[in-house]
Amino acid sequence: MEKAQSHKIGMISIVVALVAIGAGTAYYFYFLNKRPKGCLDPEKFKEFKLVKRTQLSHNVANFKFALPTPSSVLGLPIGQHLSCRGKDCVGEVVTKAYTPTTLDSDLGYFELVIKMYPQGSMSHHFREMREGDYLAVKGPKGRFKYQPNQVRAFGMLAGGTGITPMFQVARAITENLSDRTNIHLVYANVTYEDILLKDELDNLASKFPNRFSVYYVLNQPPEEWDGGIGFVSKEMIQTYCPAPAPDIQILRCGPPLMNKAMAVHLDALGYTPKMQFQF
Ligand SMILES: Cc1cc2nc3c(=O)[nH]c(=O)nc-3n(C[C@H](O)[C@H](O)[C@H](O)COP(=O)(O)OP(=O)(O)OC[C@H]3O[C@@H](n4cnc5c(N)ncnc54)[C@H](O)[C@@H]3O)c2cc1C
Repeated sequence: MEKAQSHKIGMISIVVALVAIGAGTAYYFYFLNKRPKGCLDPEKFKEFKLVKRTQLSHNVANFKFALPTPSSVLGLPIGQHLSCRGKDCVGEVVTKAYTPTTLDSDLGYFELVIKMYPQGSMSHHFREMREGDYLAVKGPKGRFKYQPNQVRAFGMLAGGTGITPMFQVARAITENLSDRTNIHLVYANVTYEDILLKDELDNLASKFPNRFSVYYVLNQPPEEWDGGIGFVSKEMIQTYCPAPAPDIQILRCGPPLMNKAMAVHLDALGYTPKMQFQF
């Protein structure tokens, strides 16, 4: 009698296990097939059509590229970037990194905000691009992994075009209702006119006053200016970024000299390597 009982329990356990494996496999394949496929290939450049070019200042423009269908997603994880290929002014092939200001929740297109330097190789390519032209893009690239609530707070130290990955992460966090991460951005530029995405950043600050703050720093400020002046200092980081702690992280993205200077400040202030990330 006892033996029959234990045999029965054994059979039930096997059936339950088989059902669980079956359900797990079905779930896995369902979501694998359901998950929208991205349009990128990490190994191969793919061409995307420039459908709208909007000049934002004398040397900055917004480039809007169409994806294959209106419901296509780019497929770029938050905080990662694209490798874009073009030709410089003597026809040499160049490849540079760019982070879209759009997210995968923006269907059918992606946008790049590009600053074009007079002597820049890839800058030349973008300056010459007209609506209807195609851009060769490969990706995703990058080491940053975004998880909602992965930290209590991000400090962000951005310089010039280094704002684009920060903006992408900030958008992802504030648009995710279940993500409570606080963001403290310090954004450095040479002049007021150089500040990229200012309306968008000010908009985030007024929409999420307790979760997103931005402190602008200018080398050459206008006469009336209530932001920081000069380069981003240790004191500015102490005042405007979260203090060192295991549940915070300071992200940085700017010109190489700024990145170096910020790393020195962060080390001196006691931020461990784990608390720092450079895009
Ligand atoms: C992860 C990542 C994301 C990026 N995202 C963007 C983005 O969204 N938009 C964007 O415009 N750029 C972005 N960049 C910068 C971009 O990759 C190029 O470095 C930039 O466009 C200049 O390339 P270039 O070939 O035109 O200039 P280069 O030929 O490399 O440089 C030529 C000259 O241009 C000037 N110059 C170049 N870069 C800078 C700079 N950062 N600050 C000041 N002067 C400079 C210098 O005078 C330099 O001597 C990103 C970089 C990284 C690493």
